Amino acid sequence: MEKQSIILISCDHFDKDICASIVEDLAHEFHYPVIFKDYDFDISDFYHPGRRQYDANSILKVVSQMSYPGSFKKIGLFRVDLFIPILTYIFGQAILNGDSGVVSHYRLRNELYGLAQSKEILNERLKKVIIHETGHMFGLIHCQNPVCVMRSSTYVEDIDQKSQNLCSKCRAELGIS
Ligand SMILES: [Zn+2]
Ligand SMILES: [Zn+2]
Repeated sequence: MEKQSIILISCDHFDKDICASIVEDLAHEFHYPVIFKDYDFDISDFYHPGRRQYDANSILKVVSQMSYPGSFKKIGLFRVDLFIPILTYIFGQAILNGDSGVVSHYRLRNELYGLAQSKEILNERLKKVIIHETGHMFGLIHCQNPVCVMRSSTYVEDIDQKSQNLCSKCRAELGIS
């Protein structure tokens, strides 16, 4: 039987080269085929004027409802500032053991913190957040290993300190050798 796929959905016109590189690393980390899709997403319905941010939980529901044959995990990529009610902002959000996740590059950009723009750093962070949220979809919880991608991150500095890889304990949990 053919393995089901993880679908990486660019919902806001992300650069094709960046997405190709994410697809490759995601497939490598989870040992599943990853398929890239473009989606014309009207984000305006999810804007919260009071917070001037976008409602990640509602966006997550829409991603969950997108149907792609052969897909069992879907992750939507966005550019807007995402929130969930209990937090000031989030880098990403996924349902534990669920079929969908959302990630935004908004808070991952150096220029937001008064630093020089860096495509390279942004892409590295984006990759780590996507792999992290995908890990949650595969049932992984936060890991204490300081370099494991499943370590929780509150600030971009936390993301920078970890690797983009699952540690051996997390890999064992997924049955990946
Ligand atoms: Zn997490
Ligand atoms: Zn780990």
